[in-house]
Amino acid sequence: MNRILIVEDEPRITSFLEKGFQSNGFTTTIVRDGREAVCMAVGNEFDLIILDLGLPGKDGLAVLEELRGQGIQQPIVILTARDDVNDKVSGLELGADDYVTKPFHFDELLARVRARLRSTSFPSGQSEMVLHLSNVTLDLRTRRAYVSDRSIELSAREFTLAETFLRHPDQVMSREQLLNHVWGYDYDPGSNIVDVYIGYLRKKLGEGLIETVRGVGYRMRS
Ligand code: CA
Repeated sequence: MNRILIVEDEPRITSFLEKGFQSNGFTTTIVRDGREAVCMAVGNEFDLIILDLGLPGKDGLAVLEELRGQGIQQPIVILTARDDVNDKVSGLELGADDYVTKPFHFDELLARVRARLRSTSFPSGQSEMVLHLSNVTLDLRTRRAYVSDRSIELSAREFTLAETFLRHPDQVMSREQLLNHVWGYDYDPGSNIVDVYIGYLRKKLGEGLIETVRGVGYRMRS
């Protein structure tokens, strides 16, 4: 329930997606051409397909139509720079399950992918909606945070940053990983925004919770 086919021709985005999904426990396969995408999707088992629209070989909408025509049932999430409403409507009418417009934040895409996978495998949708680590609890439905049952106000970014740590207990997260997860691939990698937000989270969640691992990044211990 974690094999993703990524159909995308822009190297910067494929490497960003690959890193993001792999660090969240997914297995990724990348194809950069529309025709190749059809062969790959038909010949192999994937749990979900991420599909760019502007592709060499064959346009993404034509790929989508062909996949559905050949009986491919897996969820397909369109990821594209085209934000034309007609493209969205065509994509959804041709059988896409969701539509994410570039530039995007990885966490939004991840949440949508997880939601699609959940609705395929757990119709109740109750899995993974509450995360715990140490004395911190995050309720993903209400976006509320708690420290030892005391409710804490977090901004949207702080919440996403905390969620990234809770999803990777004891794992050292590099600044680059955190930047990709929380701020998206289009953010300036030289920025110190990660350190600034780690400071905010420490103030709100407790100073000792997020460790600095010198020269590597940050970790939250279970
Ligand atoms: Ca493209």
